[in-house]
Amino acid sequence: MASELIYRGGHEAHPPTSGGAGYTPKPEKRLLWLSRPLRYLLREQRLLFVLVGMALASLLFILAPSSSSSYGSYSSAIASELALRSAMDHHHHYQRSAVEAASRGFVGGKVPLGIKRKGLRIVVTGGAGFVGSHLVDQLIARGDSVIVVDNFFTGRKENVMHHFGNPNFELIRHDVVEPLLLEVDQIYHLACPASPVHYKFNPVKTIISFFFSFLVDFVFLCVFLVVKLATFPLCFGLHKTNVVGTLNMLGLAKRVGARFLLTSTSEVYGDPLQHPQVETYWGNVNPIGVRSCYDEGKRTAETLTMDYHRGAQIEVRIARIFNTYGPRMCIDDGRVVSNFVAQALRKEPLTVYGDGKQTRSFQYVSDLVEGLMRLMDGEHIGPFNLGNPGEFTMLELAKVVQETIDPNAKIEFRANTADDPHKRKPDITKAKEMLGWEPKIPLRQGLPLMVNDFRKRIFGDHSDSNPSTTTTSKSTGSGSS
Ligand code: NAD
Ligand code: UDP
Repeated sequence: MASELIYRGGHEAHPPTSGGAGYTPKPEKRLLWLSRPLRYLLREQRLLFVLVGMALASLLFILAPSSSSSYGSYSSAIASELALRSAMDHHHHYQRSAVEAASRGFVGGKVPLGIKRKGLRIVVTGGAGFVGSHLVDQLIARGDSVIVVDNFFTGRKENVMHHFGNPNFELIRHDVVEPLLLEVDQIYHLACPASPVHYKFNPVKTIISFFFSFLVDFVFLCVFLVVKLATFPLCFGLHKTNVVGTLNMLGLAKRVGARFLLTSTSEVYGDPLQHPQVETYWGNVNPIGVRSCYDEGKRTAETLTMDYHRGAQIEVRIARIFNTYGPRMCIDDGRVVSNFVAQALRKEPLTVYGDGKQTRSFQYVSDLVEGLMRLMDGEHIGPFNLGNPGEFTMLELAKVVQETIDPNAKIEFRANTADDPHKRKPDITKAKEMLGWEPKIPLRQGLPLMVNDFRKRIFGDHSDSNPSTTTTSKSTGSGSS
């Protein structure tokens, strides 16, 4: 552009001489070119506006908060970090550039004005499930292109169909037990049935998903499977998903240089002897129990993830997720929050297993999604506990459900299932310090949001009323009947 202007100026400075004898040379055009915009600026007071604008922009930039707890500003921080990365435009420089960006102070929330974040290509396995679909919503909202890979074992198209037609969204019906090749920057690996009812349904499929890997993994797996198969022939499904499925996704990460995040679980701590559970605790898992297809499957998945990191330099992240609830949970998946909410809405007794004194800590799904994204985009591998430290006995939870939905709901005690952990509560110090993350939504605030969704799905009530209002009126209604 500049050269074009200079050329034009030069051209005007040497006009054709066909003007005749009366021709008087015009004043020097080069100077005119310089002075004309200047004179215009001064005359119209444009210079003043330009200077004031520049001063305001600088002030804004300097005063922008250097850190914030809100995810909005966090997203902006990631945006600036990723924009820097896009300039380098190479997978293998991701971590380095992220760390560099962090050290330059961008991660804290300052966004250089005018820099637009380049969207990432992200695959979410299990993206049609409960947690996955909420994660997909957030990734799409921040401008990424998302490919959901799901076999719909426990997931539903309805959870993601609001993205159909969006060019940034793709849905592939695929079982992660089979290999898959996709060009992506990040892989969130969630595919795995998470409720005891579902994972006990086909346990072996849950764990085998790690089959194709290094020789050492293969040998380990054979021994592992022989033990498992001899003991629990019905466990094939869950094992397959956790072992072979995770191996396939790690293989994909290795081939395309993508960053890989595993959604592990608090179940890796088994029936914990340490309370609350810290990431350094190795757990107390029954390796041959009915829950072990899930617990051991996830422990193997963690092992494979770290082996791929150490052996193949894959960038990995591990999240240990504690009990999570929210809209889009499977209504009859047997998990305690979904059971109690559905039972209270249907006017059935709340089924408390055992004496109801066992504890869990319940996290609202949006808090988890924020934690997963921070983990993926940050520079720490983990494992990180992602959960809400608010601890409840099952009887206390039943009481909260009664308060929220129906004070007259009855409680019915049932025999407990085998190997049920007696207590569970995350120590989230590490996530607080290294990811700047902590949950924001307490149970009494999150539950009404889930109740609203369940009410719509159970009774087909599509009125968009305020969750708390709906809850109150429902409670009042049942109380008076
Ligand atoms: P979910 O059952 O709702 O979602 C799992 C999704 O994975 C479903 O859409 C399912 O169809 C899909 N899937 C299962 N096997 C598959 C396979 N072989 N191939 C392709 N897709 C497959 O469960 P969720 O609660 O959303 O859990 C998501 C992840 O988080 C799981 O890995 C789970 O272990 C982990 N997690 C969840 C919780 C929780 O409380 N929700 C707690 C700890 C860990
Ligand atoms: N539970 C219960 N009633 C139910 C379902 C579950 O009392 O209808 C108990 C279960 O025994 C366990 C706790 O609730 O102690 C949490 O169970 P869930 O299956 O939700 O999660 P997990 O055991 O995997 O933490």
